[in-house]
Amino acid sequence: MGAFSMITDNPRPRPRVVVVGLASCFGCQLQITNSEPHLMELLDQIDLEYWQLVTSEDMPDAYDVAIIEGSVTTRESEDLVRRVREKAAHVMAIGACAVTGGVTGMAENALARRVGEVYGDAVPEACGQMIEPRPVDAVITVDSRVYCCPIDARDFATQLQRVLFGSNAVREERALCADCKRNENDCFFNQGELCMGLVTRAGCNARCVNRGRPCFGCAGLSSAANLDSTRQACERYGVPAARFDKALQMFSQVPLSQAGRQGDDEPVAGTAVGKGAR
Ligand code: SF4
Ligand code: SF4
Ligand code: SF4
Repeated sequence: MGAFSMITDNPRPRPRVVVVGLASCFGCQLQITNSEPHLMELLDQIDLEYWQLVTSEDMPDAYDVAIIEGSVTTRESEDLVRRVREKAAHVMAIGACAVTGGVTGMAENALARRVGEVYGDAVPEACGQMIEPRPVDAVITVDSRVYCCPIDARDFATQLQRVLFGSNAVREERALCADCKRNENDCFFNQGELCMGLVTRAGCNARCVNRGRPCFGCAGLSSAANLDSTRQACERYGVPAARFDKALQMFSQVPLSQAGRQGDDEPVAGTAVGKGAR
């Protein structure tokens, strides 16, 4: 008996997968298509029942794994993710928008006002009943996560395979700097430049710093992050702590990231786990 058949009553040999987009730029769904060498292999392992980016059909009623991109910004999307949670044996959140609130989270409680600034009194019905943007796991229990903005295609393929076949790997929760140092990068702080690697969750192999750009924290806060100590370090290196605090608002809105902390130290993605709505 394969790992997946132990955790679902799906009579078909392959798990049924849906990909759902909430408030997002669709960049993470697009990244899935960049899993070039792995994409055909992945498609051979699943029944892809619905992919919002490429279909105008309705989402089916039955599926095993739901992949959610984007943050929850409306009452309608709150209802949607609750329905998805009821049906899916495993829910995976992909990308900063879904995991920490991401770029849309920066609007905090000003979303409706900002939309009003664009549309005036003619806010389209499609905008729905707007609420403060929040990550998916502020609304439902999420079983696994793929971090960053956008996600890394290879990381996505790895995480999905762990969902399909099971894994006891434990998510890395240390901050990014150790990986950066191992890659022999010169630290941006030595040039008086801010880099968010000090407080950002490791896992991307410091890909921005490797290419000569400071980390802007898209993987979200590491549970090992010490914000006070980082503020002091910033000042020591001539970077105003206020700049650090402002940069935190981009991908690590502190209240939102705390809402998302339930996933720390969880297995990366074991076989699908129990359902539950919060
Ligand atoms: S995490 Fe970034 S790339 Fe992905 S949907 Fe959100 S804004 Fe787009
Ligand atoms: S450049 Fe950034 S990630 Fe690298 S060591 Fe310095 S603070 Fe850490
Ligand atoms: S280096 Fe920082 S900003 Fe770049 S992908 Fe990694 S976590 Fe995101």
